Amino acid sequence: MTLPRSGLRRSRNTKIVATIGPVSSSPEMIRRLLEAGVDVFRLNFSHGAHEDHAERYRAIRQMEEELNRPVAIMADLQGPKLRVGKFAEGKIELVPGQKFRLDLDPALGNTERVQLPHPEIFAALEDGTDLLLDDGNVRLRVISHGPDHAECEVTVGRKLSDRKGVNVPGVILPLDALTEKDRKDLEFAVELGVDWIAMSFVQRPEDIELGHSLIKGRAALLAKMEKPSAIKHLDEIVKLVDGMMVARGDLGVEMPAEEVPAIQKRIVRACRQAGKPVIVATQMLESMVNSPTPTRAEASDVATAVFDGADAVMLSAETAAGSYPVEAVSIMNRIAERVESDPIYRDMIDSNKVEPEHTLADAITASANQVAITIDAKCIVTYTSSGYTTLRACRERPHQPILCITPNFRVARRMMLSFGVHSVVNNESDHITKYGPVARDTAKALGFAKSGDSVVITAGVPFGQAGTTNMLRITTVD
Ligand code: PGA
Ligand code: MN
Repeated sequence: MTLPRSGLRRSRNTKIVATIGPVSSSPEMIRRLLEAGVDVFRLNFSHGAHEDHAERYRAIRQMEEELNRPVAIMADLQGPKLRVGKFAEGKIELVPGQKFRLDLDPALGNTERVQLPHPEIFAALEDGTDLLLDDGNVRLRVISHGPDHAECEVTVGRKLSDRKGVNVPGVILPLDALTEKDRKDLEFAVELGVDWIAMSFVQRPEDIELGHSLIKGRAALLAKMEKPSAIKHLDEIVKLVDGMMVARGDLGVEMPAEEVPAIQKRIVRACRQAGKPVIVATQMLESMVNSPTPTRAEASDVATAVFDGADAVMLSAETAAGSYPVEAVSIMNRIAERVESDPIYRDMIDSNKVEPEHTLADAITASANQVAITIDAKCIVTYTSSGYTTLRACRERPHQPILCITPNFRVARRMMLSFGVHSVVNNESDHITKYGPVARDTAKALGFAKSGDSVVITAGVPFGQAGTTNMLRITTVD
């Protein structure tokens, strides 16, 4: 039997996603970040060349092996991000109230006009539409428009420079959800072996179908929720994806800031209901880009996501480009540990509990959870070939850690994003007679249980048929 070595264990359920970037790409930094608490690395395809991502990918896989703990890697595609062209002087000064024109002309811009190289946007605009530039620092209102231009009035803002982003919140844009660049990045990332593909600026359920048709099952698909139209289709989109991200950066530009907290809670709840992992992202510890300690409000923001029962919290610039990447992960880790050890945490998780669906799988899973509480079992062991049995266990947000035992190393990695899961690859768990011994030995070897402790096992028999969780067993470690 292949027994796992010690592995690297966490004493929290909530997972940590860290974006890798210029300050965090060396194998040494990746090791330190993993030791500090990272469970999932995010490669941001808005920046960096393919070769940079490939190098980072390889360094992560090397450390995964050295530390003997499966690590999930997520490729985050840029998506159809709109940008203005360039200015003759690099930047311009605007005056609120002045007129400003956007058009298709590639000539360098000035204080009167600049290029917006997207004809489909001009076709979708309406008079009165608000355009948000540079993360909302500049606002333009459309006064009149034609197929190749829009005459606008500046309502907010003074400075605008080359290639700044443009958000059009109120309008469903007739844009391909995956640009040419995204398609190339997707293929490259999937070939590299990433576990998750994140799609940016998703607007409609069809966008997710397009994503699946290109990924072809080679990775799991996560929708970044950052457009009002995606929020409108939340229930349909959650059915189609494997996971979601509350992408608060663009969401807070596309919608008023006061909308973001309630939407965050809605998305987390929808994902918990569906039994799919959800990440709360962006600006979680933003001040730590430049400071070794977070603000009290940031600590509280991370804690809120943990109290809500999110699967994961994410770091962006903090670990990609900040001065204190390891400190940011350590503090996130400590906040999650502290919150999860608080009696109020259990109350809050249970008060948002989702009811089992009327399926055999959920009947077994809910019973396993109840049995584990009643007999004070030390962990819930789930055998899975597709991840399904484990995902249903996560959906219960159990008190005990969840061991995911699978012969499929891709499933093992993918599941590391999910609440409370510790994955173990084991090729000898394919028969019911081995479930007991493998569960006991694994739980003991990893320090989840010691002699005399009980563990609860769920599985689908026969093994290898996705979606057939039908077995519950209790066993005592010898
Ligand atoms: P981004 O996505 O960092 O790729 O823009 C996250 C967000 O918008 O919050
Ligand atoms: Mn975004």
